Amino acid sequence: MQDKRIALVTGANQGIGLQIAKDLVSHGLTVLVGSRNLARGEAAAEEIGPDARALQLDVTDRASIADAAERIRSEFGQLDILIQNAAISNTNRKPGQSVEDYAKTTRASNVSLDEMRAVWETNVFGVLAVYQAMLPLLRKAPAARIVNVSSGAGSLTMNAAPDAPYRSIFGPVYPASKTALNALTLAMAIELEPEGIAVNAVSPGFTKTNLNGFAGTDSVEEGAREAVRVALLDAESPTGTFTHATLGTIPW
Ligand code: NAP
Repeated sequence: MQDKRIALVTGANQGIGLQIAKDLVSHGLTVLVGSRNLARGEAAAEEIGPDARALQLDVTDRASIADAAERIRSEFGQLDILIQNAAISNTNRKPGQSVEDYAKTTRASNVSLDEMRAVWETNVFGVLAVYQAMLPLLRKAPAARIVNVSSGAGSLTMNAAPDAPYRSIFGPVYPASKTALNALTLAMAIELEPEGIAVNAVSPGFTKTNLNGFAGTDSVEEGAREAVRVALLDAESPTGTFTHATLGTIPW
């Protein structure tokens, strides 16, 4: 019988996901370090310590997702916390190309549909596929929670404001994938509200990671903070929220 709570963090072999995994272990949880490359996941789990276990999980691969769910079922019987963190920002940004220049090549008028599909496959459909596979395990836990790692870049309300700081790079690939993730978050929260399973979105803020070529301004410790806080909230806390560690509530 497993007495520690079990958390799964997708894309936890580096960046914010790795830090979330470290923080959850330090709060006494057993953490499954999701990694599409098992060797990288094992290296990360070893770095974190004995309460971290690598779990091969490519969120775009149905067989990988099914195998991961089956392993959790057979080893632990339930899942208490699911953190959907894995994401990509692009598949074809050229080395050295700035975010602004990449944005000019991925406007609604000229974006490659293949580029948009590839990013949405991970950031949107991958999240839904993992949700569907893990839900039976979350339903077995007494007070399960899901945290979707989104971004303020996906906020329609913020980007609709003429003076919004990142408005010029709002486009169909990464920013709109996070808008779609926000929509999924709300759909999941509404679906699971009667069962008492909370589903919340968080924004890490502009964090120094591989995703942005380490151009971010915040540390991974800062970037992980809100996901960890929301993951550890009690069963009475609200569902269907979108928050940042210092900015508080972010408008959808
Ligand atoms: P990161 O360092 O690039 O980490 C992304 C993680 O996702 C990596 O572990 C990566 O695995 C994994 N991943 C990518 N595709 C995957 C797939 N198909 N299946 C499983 N895992 C996959 O980026 P990060 O900045 O930590 O991003 C973490 C989350 O924060 C993302 O949801 C991102 O959108 C969000 N976010 C980041 C920022 C920021 O400024 N960094 C701002 C707002 C939101 P590999 O190592 O194998 O590539």
